[in-house]
Amino acid sequence: MSMFCYQCQETVGGKGCTKVGVCGKTADLANLQDLMIYTLKGIAEVGVKADEIGYEVPGLDRFMMDGLFMTITNANFDKERFLKKIKEGLKLRDEIKENLKEKGVDLSHLKDAATFSVNSDDDIVYKANNDKERVGVLATKDEDIRSLRELITYGLKGMAAYAEHADNLGYNDPEIPKFMRRALAATMDDSLTVEDLIKLTMETGEYGVKVMALLDKANTSTYGNPEITEVNIGTRNNPAILVSGHDLRDLEELLEQTKGTGVDVYTHGEMLPAHYYPAFKKYDHFVGNYGNAWWKQKEEFEKFNGPILFTTNCIVPPKESYADRVYTTNSTGYPGFKHIPDRVGDEPKDFSEIIEHAKRLPAPTQIESGKIVGGFAHAQVFALADKIVEAVKSGAIKKFFVMAGCDGRMKQRNYYTEFAKALPKDTVILTAGCAKYKYNKLNLGDINGITSVLDA
Ligand code: SF4
Repeated sequence: MSMFCYQCQETVGGKGCTKVGVCGKTADLANLQDLMIYTLKGIAEVGVKADEIGYEVPGLDRFMMDGLFMTITNANFDKERFLKKIKEGLKLRDEIKENLKEKGVDLSHLKDAATFSVNSDDDIVYKANNDKERVGVLATKDEDIRSLRELITYGLKGMAAYAEHADNLGYNDPEIPKFMRRALAATMDDSLTVEDLIKLTMETGEYGVKVMALLDKANTSTYGNPEITEVNIGTRNNPAILVSGHDLRDLEELLEQTKGTGVDVYTHGEMLPAHYYPAFKKYDHFVGNYGNAWWKQKEEFEKFNGPILFTTNCIVPPKESYADRVYTTNSTGYPGFKHIPDRVGDEPKDFSEIIEHAKRLPAPTQIESGKIVGGFAHAQVFALADKIVEAVKSGAIKKFFVMAGCDGRMKQRNYYTEFAKALPKDTVILTAGCAKYKYNKLNLGDINGITSVLDA
C-alpha cells in the first residue's frame, strides 16, 4: 500500500485510497500530508504544556490553523509548500521546547511526534514515504480507536479552516486553538478508551459549532447580515475574475482593487452566498455567480475564459487548457498555479497580477442565464418568522427538509435532485453548502412568497 487516506466521501470503494487519491492526490503527497499532521501533533503536545503554564507562543495558533487547513481534501496539492511547512513546524516545535525547558517544564516523556528530527528535504520525503507505520493513519491498529482519532482530526481540520477565515477578519477566540491542541495531542494518547474518544468527538462537534458562530460573527459584523437577494447567473461582456472558496476578506480586497479597471468579478461554488451580504452590493462590477458545484469546474473553468482565484479548498486537478490562469491564496496550492502571498500586517493582499491577467483575456462564455434567490441566513429567517409561522399554522407549509453539505460527482447523488422535484408543493427545503446546486435552479416555486428552497 503506497498510501492510505479515507478522509472524504470520495474514497475508493468507501474504504480508502491506497494507490492514488480519487481527488488527484498522489501517494507521496498523501504521505507528506500525513507527516504534516504528525508534525502538528508533536507541536500540539508541547503546545498543551505551554497552555498549562499560560505561556502564549506567538504565531502558534495561526501556524496550526494553516497546517490543518492545508490537508483538507482538495485544498493543497503543492509538495513544496508541505516541505516548507513541515520544516517551519519542526523549528517552531523545537523553539517551544527550548522555552519550556528554560521555564522548568518537564519534557522527559514526549512522544516521537514531538521529538523526531530530519536534516534535509530528502529526509522529510524519506520519512513520509517509509515511516508510514508510525506516521500514517494505519499507525493506530485498533479500528475503533483509529476511526475516532481520525474523526476528531477531520473535525479539527474543518474547524481550522473556519477559524482562519474568522481570524482574517480579526475575530478569534483563544479557547478554540487551545481546544485544537488538546484534542490533537489526545489522538496520540494510548491511555484513552473508545468511550473517552467518543466524548472527545462530541466535544469536537461542540467546538465546531463555536467556530461556526465565530465565523458568522466575523462575517456579519464586517459585511452585515445576509438578506434575500436575487443573484444573476448569466454573464456580461467584460473580462472577469472568478472567485471560489469562502474567504470574504479576499473577495472584498479583490473587489476594491478591480473597481474602475473594467474587470468584472463573479463567484463560484460556495462563494455564492457572498452576494447576500449588504456590503458587497455596492460593487457594480460584482456581476453574479458562474457555474455550479466544485466537481463541474473542469468544463466550467474552461468556458469562463478569465483567471480563477481559489481562496479555500475544492481544487480539482486542472485541464491544461486553463491551468495557466488559476491562482491560489491562503492555505490552498497546486503545483504550477500562481500563489498570491498572505497579507503583511494589515496591508491588503496584492491582486494586481491576476487583475492584469484578466484584462488580457476574453469575457466569460455564458453557460446559463436568469437568477437564483438566496440569503436566508438566521437574521433574515427571523425577520420572516411571522410569515413562516403563519404559513405553518395555516397548513400552507407542512414540512421542512434540511438538505445541506457538499455536492459530489457520483451519479447516485442525483437522488437529491429527484427528491427535491418529488416533494409536495407544501414543503420547504432548507439548504446550505454546495449541495444546493442539486436543486437551486429547479424553479420549485414559492409558498405565500417564501421560496421553496431557502438557501441559508
Ligand atoms: S482526500 Fe483524496 S485521497 Fe483522501 S479519501 Fe478523499 S479522495 Fe481519497
